[in-house]
Amino acid sequence: MGTLDEIISYSGSLKLIYLKQNLEQLLDEAKKRDQSYQEFLRTILCYEMESKEARAKEKRLKSASFPTLKTIEEFDLSFQKSISKRQLNELCELTWVDQMYNLILLGPPGVGKSHLAIALGYKAIEAGYNVSFITMDLLMHTLKTAEISKKSKGKLNRILASSLVIIDELGYLPITREEANLFFSLISTLHEQASIIITSNKGFEDWTELLGDPALTTAVLDRITYRCEVITMQGKSYRLEHRQSLFDKVEND
Ligand code: ADP
Ligand code: MG
Repeated sequence: MGTLDEIISYSGSLKLIYLKQNLEQLLDEAKKRDQSYQEFLRTILCYEMESKEARAKEKRLKSASFPTLKTIEEFDLSFQKSISKRQLNELCELTWVDQMYNLILLGPPGVGKSHLAIALGYKAIEAGYNVSFITMDLLMHTLKTAEISKKSKGKLNRILASSLVIIDELGYLPITREEANLFFSLISTLHEQASIIITSNKGFEDWTELLGDPALTTAVLDRITYRCEVITMQGKSYRLEHRQSLFDKVEND
């Protein structure tokens, strides 16, 4: 085996993927730039580290299961006046995730609850946190089938291993008594180990009807709101305001 082949083989065993795939290019570069031994080694390690971080971020992003990717930069604060620039900056700093604070985003459809939740989730992924996004509907299904379905069990384990769990759309679909109990037990576990973002089109006053039992609702709210920021998002639906009509173009022509 030639020296190059040996290096490639060692890189593979050590999982130095960047080095394995770019060895010749790295060597050419070193020659071209007349790099010192130190500089050459530093360059290799630096690229290796960057590519490892990028792969880890990609993996975290994939396992977060966002329905679509939304960013803070795309979030138009002039449209959503319920949040100030300062508040948004503070949320983006993610100290609240370290401190295991929760965030509840309330408001009617289309005001940007899911957008903001996903965008903050993405920020957290960039900062190195494990994040899980799940709709309330899918969460209920996952909890109910975790014992009998490998897929659900995997999903639940990912949720339990996340520093930030986003539960989207609480209140769109009615839930059963059994589901409410499962939800409560998940929240009890999560509130000691992770931050939770919940989005809902229902105010707290309607959560009892939703969860079906005042005592259970109090217990859930007690845990979630113990350390929590509640943001009530108001205003018009961004979707309706920015509705794209199929015929606009024709009419304008
Ligand atoms: P909600 O979850 O409150 O029903 P969404 O977050 O799904 O609303 O928002 C509906 C659509 O409008 C999404 O495509 C979202 O990206 C967009 N949107 C909502 N609010 C804003 C905003 N303030 N700036 C930019 N896009 C927004
Ligand atoms: Mg939504």
